[in-house]
Amino acid sequence: MVYRILELKNLKTSFFTKAGEVEAVRGISFHVDKGEAIGIVGESGSGKSVTALSIMKLLQPPGKITGGQILFKNKNLVEIPNKEMRHIRGNEMSIIFQDPTMSLNPVFTVGNQIMEAILNHQKISKKEARAKAIEILRLAGIPSAEKRLNDYPHEFSGGMRQRVIIGMALSCEPDILIADEPTTALDTTIQAQILKLMRDLKNRWGTSIIFITHDLGVAADFCSRIIVMYDGLIMEEGPVKSIFFDSKHPYTRGLIESIPGVIQKGRKKRLVSINGISPDLFSSHVGCPFMPRCDFAMKICKEKQPPYFDAGEGHRSKCWLLHGEAPKKAPWVKRRCADGNR
Ligand code: SF4
Repeated sequence: MVYRILELKNLKTSFFTKAGEVEAVRGISFHVDKGEAIGIVGESGSGKSVTALSIMKLLQPPGKITGGQILFKNKNLVEIPNKEMRHIRGNEMSIIFQDPTMSLNPVFTVGNQIMEAILNHQKISKKEARAKAIEILRLAGIPSAEKRLNDYPHEFSGGMRQRVIIGMALSCEPDILIADEPTTALDTTIQAQILKLMRDLKNRWGTSIIFITHDLGVAADFCSRIIVMYDGLIMEEGPVKSIFFDSKHPYTRGLIESIPGVIQKGRKKRLVSINGISPDLFSSHVGCPFMPRCDFAMKICKEKQPPYFDAGEGHRSKCWLLHGEAPKKAPWVKRRCADGNR
């Protein structure tokens, strides 16, 4: 039976600045099943990382969760005390960031830091923690693991440091790992190594993963489901195959066409970029947020924010093009009526 480990219900997060409230996440809902890897993709400022920090309750003022629920193993994290959340972080939920140097202290050896992380979360002896630290380095593919335990972070390459962090994050066998752009700063070869390591460790421990990236191609390679975010909202969500080969939203379409070398229907497409710039943080929320950049915008797009239209098999899209009465402006969209019928 599928176990729903995490569920967000209408989550809202804002930043309260001197210039006013910035609604960074504007009511998003999605779930993650046990052992599943889902991808959250979108440009900078789309709300992906704020979503991650909200789930982990690591938001710093002036950021604040303003509404909704984060159900983790049926417990609403929005309401639990900080002490309980600290226990959940590290033991049951972990997060890794783009820059591994942020997570490793330059003045302590790597071995010291791995052992400390283990001892903080597991009741085992120092000797056992040392053996486990060596195992983590081995699993992370670090050669001469026992010797490297005594090295400092600067003696590891960027890719090695990120592999150590991933090994550390997964060694406590969390139920869920949030990886926020873990491969962005790395070259393609190292990126492939990191993805392989995450896949191996996920399979070994059955960890659920939320993989946050601006790169739809990487997400498609790693995840079974994709969530596309724009302006703090989910624009489209669905299984990788239907998002990639049957996308219903012009923004997703733009992301796919901007992947170098993407092949659609058997032939390579010309690289296309998405027109315009990301939305103004203080913009009004009337109509579709993607409208100023959309080649298919209609009158209704300016007046009313689209609801989610069901595209079948867990695929939904927030775009008026799927409305049964919308004029046929985008030939690639197979439309559905608001009630879900084609
Ligand atoms: Fe474009 Fe309208 Fe769809 Fe928004 S709702 S993505 S403006 S067609």
